[in-house]
Amino acid sequence: MEDTNYVKQLNEPARRRYREKITAHIGYDPYQLKKNDFSRDLSDLPAVEAMDITSYLVLHTAYYTASQMKAYKSLEAFNYFVCGWVNDLATKEALNKCRLVFARVNHSQRSGETPLKTWIVAKEDGEVVTAHCNCMAGLSESCSHVGAVLFAIEAGVKMRETASCTTEKCKWLMPSHVKKIPAAPVAMIDFSSAKSKKQKTG
Ligand SMILES: [Zn+2]
Repeated sequence: MEDTNYVKQLNEPARRRYREKITAHIGYDPYQLKKNDFSRDLSDLPAVEAMDITSYLVLHTAYYTASQMKAYKSLEAFNYFVCGWVNDLATKEALNKCRLVFARVNHSQRSGETPLKTWIVAKEDGEVVTAHCNCMAGLSESCSHVGAVLFAIEAGVKMRETASCTTEKCKWLMPSHVKKIPAAPVAMIDFSSAKSKKQKTG
């Protein structure tokens, strides 16, 4: 596989790790795909559930602790998702019957900046295999953006399972759906953790 422009600008350890990930799980570099290469059909999403998100972010990457995941509604990643900052969620086949899910995630308050490009790979049953985000210099496999994409996939899977899924309804509904969730202005969102709330109530 030839190095894409994205790979070329990474430093050597990051480049090696990135090549490893895409060679083992995908078979192409997601950053070189065009919009039309992806499916936006809900039925193509891997069946990611809350358990899969926890086991990836807690057990696999140690990005969150188990108790942070229990208070998932206070997580930055969850707020990114609720605020509709995850968009263009799209999927494509990867190796070993896995699915790639690719998304653009806005920088939180800095909305004028180019959105981040975040991707995850999961088995069809929802087990998250690997992930990547370009928010840091190349090595990010777990960050709030990866978490936000996982929450968005979980929501899409729930929609698929609850909606009577005609072909038309199964088209990717997420961006407009997310906007319908009443999103408070950023200043009003309570970013304090559930832990501190518990302490307040005794
Ligand atoms: Zn990120």
